[in-house]
Amino acid sequence: MNKVAFITGATRGIGKQIAITLSENGYDICLNYRKKNDELLNTKKEIENNGVKCFTTQGDVSNYEDCQRMVEEIIKEHGQIDVLVNNAGITKDSLILRMSKEDFNSVIDVNLTGTFNVTKNVIPYMMKARSGRIINISSVVGISGNAGQINYAASKAGVIGFTKSLAKEVASRNILVNAVAPGFIQTQMTDVLKDSVKEEIAKNIPLKKLGTAEDVAKVVKFLASEDSSYITGQVINVDGGMLM
Ligand code: NDP
Repeated sequence: MNKVAFITGATRGIGKQIAITLSENGYDICLNYRKKNDELLNTKKEIENNGVKCFTTQGDVSNYEDCQRMVEEIIKEHGQIDVLVNNAGITKDSLILRMSKEDFNSVIDVNLTGTFNVTKNVIPYMMKARSGRIINISSVVGISGNAGQINYAASKAGVIGFTKSLAKEVASRNILVNAVAPGFIQTQMTDVLKDSVKEEIAKNIPLKKLGTAEDVAKVVKFLASEDSSYITGQVINVDGGMLM
């Protein structure tokens, strides 16, 4: 029987690539999407072409009831969840003087509370199975901070605290919990930046380039695999050396 991986926010970007990479490595995939689009349907086909199952489930991770229902649907379909990747995330950047309470709260609600909402519903099944991998997508700005991103950086720092605390809580059940902290990765999230800004960012990265979704997906694949069986509570930066 294939292992089952549940990836949130998998309609595009890093989440989509994680789903494809895990499918190439024999995992049955459960994709969460908020809004259905053609890209989601193409991704589903691409995953199925790798000879594994692909189940899709609609829901907003910031809504607890949606998360409860999505996990129930997956358990009904597959009976288990071996790997959970909390990837769904948003930005609403501005300096504090301009940032509304709504923009602060919505980023925390999706990025941090969303991670809780999904994990809380998945963890009982992993505990029962006495096995599981949880991989949370944080960000290097959760470690370094970034002007214009107090909401986003706070949410991603929160994800790191969440990861380490949960790793301690569930280690005795053989559930490993780690975070991946990407730097600047080329996706729609960073496409909003002007080319000149991206070039300037690349100059300050030791590897002199932005990362790709594949760079992040390969690390998630490692953390989901048996090769990482003695690693828990860690944050792995995938940032071309930006933060060192
Ligand atoms: P994208 O904006 O390209 O994709 C984000 C995904 O999250 C989309 O599929 C989106 O779906 C989904 N999503 C957003 N809100 C919700 C929600 N409430 N419920 C369910 N799904 C939701 O971002 P990236 O691929 O770049 O980012 C993926 C993760 O990586 C995020 O957590 C991000 O913070 C993190 N990251 C990205 C970096 C980068 O440079 N790109 C750097 C560091 C971290 P929909 O279209 O339906 O809204």
